[in-house]
Amino acid sequence: MASGPTVNIRRDVDDKFYRYRMPLLTTKIEGKGNGIKTVVPNMADVARALTRPPAYPTKFFGCELGAQTSFDEKNDRYIVNGAHDANRLRELLDGFIEKFVLCKSCKNPETDLVILKSGRHEEIIRDCKACGERTGVDMRHKLTTFILKNPPVKSKKDKKRNNAGTAAASVGGSNSPTHDTEDAEGADQIHDAAESDDELTRKIKAEAAELNPETAIVKEDWAADTSPEAVKQRMKALESSMAAVGMGDDDGSDEDVNSPYTQLGKWVEENRDDVESPKVFSVELYKKVQEFGIEKKHKTLLVLMQALFTEEATTEIKSYLVLFKKMVTSERHQKALLGGLERLVGLMQPSLIPAVPKLLMEFYQADILEEEVITQWGTHVSRKYVDKDTSKKVRKASEPFLKWLAEAEDDEDDE
Ligand SMILES: [Zn+2]
Repeated sequence: MASGPTVNIRRDVDDKFYRYRMPLLTTKIEGKGNGIKTVVPNMADVARALTRPPAYPTKFFGCELGAQTSFDEKNDRYIVNGAHDANRLRELLDGFIEKFVLCKSCKNPETDLVILKSGRHEEIIRDCKACGERTGVDMRHKLTTFILKNPPVKSKKDKKRNNAGTAAASVGGSNSPTHDTEDAEGADQIHDAAESDDELTRKIKAEAAELNPETAIVKEDWAADTSPEAVKQRMKALESSMAAVGMGDDDGSDEDVNSPYTQLGKWVEENRDDVESPKVFSVELYKKVQEFGIEKKHKTLLVLMQALFTEEATTEIKSYLVLFKKMVTSERHQKALLGGLERLVGLMQPSLIPAVPKLLMEFYQADILEEEVITQWGTHVSRKYVDKDTSKKVRKASEPFLKWLAEAEDDEDDE
């Protein structure tokens, strides 16, 4: 087994208790002149930690650097032509992990690469053992050609899993509904979930306990590394590392009837009216969201904003502020919430248009929406969630609140 320093597989996770670690990639320059090359002596160990064939990350380096690669699997020799800095290769490895290892949905590295064939069409997906999602890789990346030519060898464990029927249609599945889920989630997902799954589990338990006064769950080992500040920092680190990935256009895709979002929306609409106490309903609702595994998704807020409220939103909102506070953990969550607000007042309950300032005020005072986010949103018409006219109308309605915000800030400055 390799000795030497190890790092978190997700280097953007600054958590020394993060369960998933790999050896720090090392390099050795050999040869000179035109024959100079970079050997990665511990590539086999790194790849083992990622449960990928060592040739994949090596080839990935080649694709990214436009360099020739060669591998001698028997002797564990993995080589990239040219002289390359170890830090550069580590950064590229982060990219490989992001694109070909981490579950796109929950960011857990325990995934299998599976090749789905449907006619002549081939697709490589990451099958997540942690959350069960099957998310596609970007088939435009050159490495995918290499992977299709050199498919991952199935371990005995995987075969067992498939035989047991847990992973549906690993090969040859055509028109499987899992495709749709992937489309529905789109690039939004890639920005989610800044924490390791251990932490996540702990956090969910603690959150459920907090939401539900009847349940007392011990929180002691949870307190260590999950201060809002630490979580915030991790979120920030993740977001900046994701910035390069870019956002897809998910217009319309959330209309998919099979998506957990649609199902959640239906469930909320069916159950919201015979609620004995909004607090109890909040807990039930949060559990439902967890069941769907979308408690950290931005899009969940988009759905809740639309499904939870009637034309009485200005009174209903108070009961759900705790829930929203739990779920809005980043700027992107805030934006999705605002998108949901646009749809609620712009499309579903037009009688609420005059109530926009009041609704914004509630979210603002509960520290769910931040001033900068509201201001940015209010001053930029967008067609992301509604048509342009509706977008304008909703922003126009928000003006009194924006004005109040600006003035409140001026007052502060004067003092
Ligand atoms: Zn997952």
